[in-house]
Amino acid sequence: MDTIAAISTPMGEGAIAIVRISGSDAIKTANRIFKGKNLEEVESHTIHYGFIIDPETNEKVEEVMVSVLKAPKTFTREDVVEINCHGGLVSVNRVLELVLNEGVRLAEPGEFTKRAFLNGRIDLSQAEAVMDLIRAKTDRAMKVAMGQMEGRLSKLIRNLRQTILETLAHVEVNIDYPEYDDVEEMTHQLLLEKASEIKTEIEKLLATSKQGKILRDGLSTAIIGRPNVGKSSLLNSLVHENKAIVTDIPGTTRDVIEEYVNVRGVPLRLVDTAGIRETEDIVERIGVERSRKVLKEADLILLVLNNAEPLTDEDRKLFEAVSGMDVIVIVNKIDLENRLNLDEVKQLAKDYPIISTSLKEEKGIDELEEAISSLFFKGKLEGGDITYVSNTRHIALLNQAKKAIDDVIQAVHSDVPIDLIQIDLTRVWEILGEIIGDTVHESLINQLFSQFCLGK
Ligand code: GDP
Ligand code: ZN
Repeated sequence: MDTIAAISTPMGEGAIAIVRISGSDAIKTANRIFKGKNLEEVESHTIHYGFIIDPETNEKVEEVMVSVLKAPKTFTREDVVEINCHGGLVSVNRVLELVLNEGVRLAEPGEFTKRAFLNGRIDLSQAEAVMDLIRAKTDRAMKVAMGQMEGRLSKLIRNLRQTILETLAHVEVNIDYPEYDDVEEMTHQLLLEKASEIKTEIEKLLATSKQGKILRDGLSTAIIGRPNVGKSSLLNSLVHENKAIVTDIPGTTRDVIEEYVNVRGVPLRLVDTAGIRETEDIVERIGVERSRKVLKEADLILLVLNNAEPLTDEDRKLFEAVSGMDVIVIVNKIDLENRLNLDEVKQLAKDYPIISTSLKEEKGIDELEEAISSLFFKGKLEGGDITYVSNTRHIALLNQAKKAIDDVIQAVHSDVPIDLIQIDLTRVWEILGEIIGDTVHESLINQLFSQFCLGK
C-alpha cells in the first residue's frame, strides 16, 4: 500500500492540529522536511521537537513536535508519523502541502481507519466506533464509543456467533451419529434451548439501544410554554451563554433555535419554540408549525409556566398536547408574587416532576438538571460496564437477527425438518457477522469508510 497523509484534528479539537502520515515511506518523508533529530534513526514511539522546513528554500515553516511510530504497534499497523503543529489551520495546511510534495498521496476520508481494518488491527464495529468518537458530544457518549472501540460489542457478538456455531455442530453430530432412537426430538430440544438463549442476548443488546442512541445523537428536548414565561431564558441558562434572543415582547421567538448542551453527561439537543398556540400572525405561524413537528419528535418536554400569572387555557392545552410524553414541568418566576394555582398544576402534571425556578435569579437550575439526568438514566449509566448499542446500522442488524432467531424458534415449534432450521440458524450467524464485518461485501466497506471525517 502507498503512503498517505491528511490533517487529523485531535479529539477535543484544541488549538493543535496534526498532519498524520501512514505507510512505508512515512518516516523517510517526514525526515526530508524536518530539521531536528534524524527521524530515521530514532526509536519507535518517541516524540521530537524541531522545525518543518521547505526543502527547496530551507525556510522554516513551522515549529513542531513530531511523533514517530513504527509498525506494527500503530493504529494502521503501518509506520506512522504525526506532525503536531501549533500555528493553526494555515500553517498546518502548509505542512501537509510539503508532505504531499514529497510524493505522498492525500488520504481519502476514513482511509486511516480503513487501513487499520484491512490490516486486521480493528474490526468493523470498532471502526465505526472511531467515527462515533469523532462525533461524540459528551464524556459519557465518548465512553460508550470507547468501550465499543475496545471491542466490547465485538466480543459479545463473537460469543453469540460461537454459541451458534457450536449448536450447529452439535446438531450435525446428532444427525450423523444417532446413538439414540429419538435423535429428532433431542435435536429439537437443544435447538430450542440455544435459540432462546441467543434471543435473550440479542434482546438485551437491543434494550440498550435507546439509551445508546440518546448518548450518541442527544436527547431531543423541546422547551414549550406561552409567550414570555421564560423559555428563551431557560435555554440560555442551560446553554450558559446568550445564544437565543431574550426579549420582553411576547411571541418574539420567531424561529426554532437549536442548541446542544451537556447536562450531567446527558447530551440535550434543545429547541426553543414559539409555543404551540394558534395565531393569526403569518411569520409566527411558521414557527408554530415547526414547533408542532419538533414536539412530535421530542424525547423530552420542558413545559414552562409563569408563577406570576394565573393558569390559562393555553397552559392547559399544552398539558394535553404532551400527554404520554416524558415531561418536566417548570414553574418559573418564583421571585415574583405567586398568582399561579399550584394545586391545579399538580393535578395537570400527574406524575411529571415539577421544578420551581427563578431564571432571573438563577435559582432551580441545579434541581432541573438533576431531574433531567435522573429521568433518563436513573443511575443505570453509572456502572460503566454495560455495552450500549448506539450505531444505527448495528441496531438494524440486531433487529434482523432477532427476527431470524424468532424464525428458528417458530420452526422448531412447528417441527420443520432440522436441515431447514439449520439454514435459518446459519442466517442469524451471518447477520451477526455483518456487525463486526466478517461477512460484509467490499462495497459496503467502502461506503462505510467514506463517511469518516478526513484524516481519521
Ligand atoms: P419566552 O417568551 O418564553 O422565551 O420568555 P423569555 O425567556 O424571553 O422571558 C420573557 C421575560 O421574562 C424577559 O424579560 C425575562 O427577563 C423575564 N424572565 C425570565 N425568567 C424570569 C424569572 O425567573 N423572573 C423574572 N422576574 N423574570 C423572568
Ligand atoms: Zn423566547
